[in-house]
Amino acid sequence: MSLLDEDIAKTRKLLNCSNSKSKRSFYASMLHELLQLHDTINYEDNNPHISQELYDLINTSYHADDLLKFHEHSLAPLSQYTFRLTKNTNKSFKGEYFDYTYLNKKYSLKQAKEIALAFYNDFDPKLYNMVKENVDSDHLFIVPGDFFSSTCDGACSFNYATGNSYITMYNSGNFSIEAIDCLVHELGHTIQGKINYSKLILSNNIALNTFGEVLSSIFETIFIDYLIASKQDAKDAYYMDINNLLLLRNAAFEARRVNKHILYLTANNKPLDEEFSSKVFEYQYLYGRLLANYYAEQYKIDPEKARFNIYNFIKSISTRDILSMLSNYGIDKEELAQCQYLKRRIKNDKKALV
Ligand SMILES: [Zn+2]
Repeated sequence: MSLLDEDIAKTRKLLNCSNSKSKRSFYASMLHELLQLHDTINYEDNNPHISQELYDLINTSYHADDLLKFHEHSLAPLSQYTFRLTKNTNKSFKGEYFDYTYLNKKYSLKQAKEIALAFYNDFDPKLYNMVKENVDSDHLFIVPGDFFSSTCDGACSFNYATGNSYITMYNSGNFSIEAIDCLVHELGHTIQGKINYSKLILSNNIALNTFGEVLSSIFETIFIDYLIASKQDAKDAYYMDINNLLLLRNAAFEARRVNKHILYLTANNKPLDEEFSSKVFEYQYLYGRLLANYYAEQYKIDPEKARFNIYNFIKSISTRDILSMLSNYGIDKEELAQCQYLKRRIKNDKKALV
């Protein structure tokens, strides 16, 4: 029996044994994710064993009251702040455009794993120990497929019910350095899961979802700097960086739409709808990439301080007060909003490429 099959059985048992509605919905969403993963890696797309009962359980996982409370205390002030951020982010990209080159696939799977693990070992040997099992065949699945976009060709499922994590990479043949960057990103999700796992964060925790892309994006960005510093695929790394910065612009655009939706609901005294619950997660990439660039600069100047701040930021993610999170861990909100660190990064990338 594979680890995934065992995990599915365990999670199903936990679901069947729990009585509280919130726990049932939590285990149901974990089970749903595992079953979807099972189908993906076995090339089944009709989800034969994801029952209506399971869907119904998950659909009750968003509590409008919770969302409303959360909106009043955290998201309303956050949305004002994000307006400023996105305005500045867009401004810093004005007139910038780079053709993105599809990168050479020259690394074997074995090499890809070694490069990703060597990076984590360089960042912190403790993290190397945390992630090394996650590239084993029990935890990492390679599904044939090629994607031209630089949005991650992978996914990570962290099962908060059991603490196991699984990475799926869509890749045919060998790996490009960009695909390895993606593996580094997905491994970042497994670390974030492990750090937060002990708190058994419920799947509908909005702070967790809002900052769900932070740690993975931080490692993705610091990995790019690590490649540049070690002169390994440095030119490709610069291209990857520019591409990530362009993706940040898209994320800023999406976040503006979320803000508009929130302001519309608030102005018209409308309840938070289902559309809102899905839109709110569009903040993920905005905050993920902004904080990644911010911390990556801090890491260049003072690695020890940056590591300390990054770990503490991730540990505090279950807090309900998103705004105080932003100011507690070495982040100057004014600096974050001014986006000078983005401008410095763009300037640096251009200098290397043009
Ligand atoms: Zn991600």
